[in-house]
Amino acid sequence: MPQLYKQQSIKIYNSLSGQKEAFTPITEGNVGMYVCGPTVYSNVHLGNVRTFMSFDTIFRYLKHLGYKVRYVRNITDAGHLENDADEGEDRIAKKARLEQIEPMEVVQRYTVDFHNILHKFNFLPPSIEPTATGHIIEQIELIKTIIDNGFGYEINGSVYFDVLKFNETNNYGKLSKRNVEDLIHNTRALDGQTDKKNPQDFALWKKAEPQHIMRWPSPWSDGFPGWHLECTAMSTKYLGEHFDIHGGGMDLKFPHHECEIAQAEACNHQTPVNYWMHANMLIMNGKKMAKSTGNYILPEEIFTGENKNISQPFSASVARFFMLQAHYRSILDFTNNGLLASEKGFNRLMDAISDLDTLKTSGTSSINIADWKQKCYDAMNDDFNSPILIANLFEAVKFINQLKDGKATLTEADLQELKDTMSTFTFDILGLVHGSQTEPGEDKLTGAVDLLIKLRQEARANKDFALSDKIRDELAAVGIQLNDGKDGTTFSTN
Ligand SMILES: [Zn+2]
Repeated sequence: MPQLYKQQSIKIYNSLSGQKEAFTPITEGNVGMYVCGPTVYSNVHLGNVRTFMSFDTIFRYLKHLGYKVRYVRNITDAGHLENDADEGEDRIAKKARLEQIEPMEVVQRYTVDFHNILHKFNFLPPSIEPTATGHIIEQIELIKTIIDNGFGYEINGSVYFDVLKFNETNNYGKLSKRNVEDLIHNTRALDGQTDKKNPQDFALWKKAEPQHIMRWPSPWSDGFPGWHLECTAMSTKYLGEHFDIHGGGMDLKFPHHECEIAQAEACNHQTPVNYWMHANMLIMNGKKMAKSTGNYILPEEIFTGENKNISQPFSASVARFFMLQAHYRSILDFTNNGLLASEKGFNRLMDAISDLDTLKTSGTSSINIADWKQKCYDAMNDDFNSPILIANLFEAVKFINQLKDGKATLTEADLQELKDTMSTFTFDILGLVHGSQTEPGEDKLTGAVDLLIKLRQEARANKDFALSDKIRDELAAVGIQLNDGKDGTTFSTN
């Protein structure tokens, strides 16, 4: 693989310093990246899809530059309580109780859903996708070390991290820019139902109540690990005590990531991560997404169009293109109008890429392709600025139209460079897929169904309704639904 990283220097906005910093990996040519994955107790939230898409695009770009990237994204399948202050029920256990199924059935169902959705959006799989329940032993070992080092204490079978003690020698709050005095001042003790010495202490191990199904033996009690611990255990195991990039949604900065830093420093006496990256949130129609108000959409409903907040189905690539038109650190407002505009833009980009094969070459070039290509790299080098990259791709759409109209010329070598660069950035780095299919690799199915849709339209035009109904019904029988809308017929699969 060409080592493009030797020519391209990346800057990353580091949440820890609050500044853009030049990116230098700990080991030349290698990148270790950890991203907090989903808690699998319900369908994946579109906001989470956005976060993971940002890191998928970053993963793709780092790989393109020739880095050997180990990308670890975990699955939280135990230990995430409803309330971040270590109170309330385990989210997975609660769902299992409500649906009267095993907690591991909940985990299985929503892990499959998560993978399906990410596959539709053309995500690359991470290098390792470890689960919390698969790393209980490592978590227990971490707790032992934290206690041995004087930063953890046991009360009634539960173990807590001593934030005040830690803060005497370290800086708790350095990532989220909080100080412990303010935290103490602002934390309300929870009606005496906690064993903690101080309300800002957090659980490393919780003793399980008798009815709690997800439990493991430990030196302290039959119980389960605190949520923050798994990420420290798994990132250390697979990336080492000190690694390059740790990412996640903005909402995880506090307390989750702050606690991860504290745990790692308490164990290993060194800061675990060089670059902390946080993706901003996704809102809808200018407001927070909430099921209760109906201002909500499931990722799947984008592809079927079955949601009152959108006027039609959109392909996964259009939705992906829409999301990447915002920088990962900006708030993204998900709206029907935004998607419609993105669909137009996406189609324009795809048409221009198709036109590339029809262009004639010339003895000279009137466009500086090398300059334009470097501008594409510059955009991604500047804290992975996908909207600027997309603006540069549209600059190329302009070139392509000028070339088509004979208003510009390119040599054969430059045309090839333009084609390769468009393809690299559009498909390999932004992860878009040519055409209107909702899933990568579905273009053959799309082609065949589109043909049947056309034949059905002809049948209807000829008033042959028996044939048009037959086409619709027999497609439905194999799981393909035709949806007649005012702009024509689309299809969805289940
Ligand atoms: Zn995490």
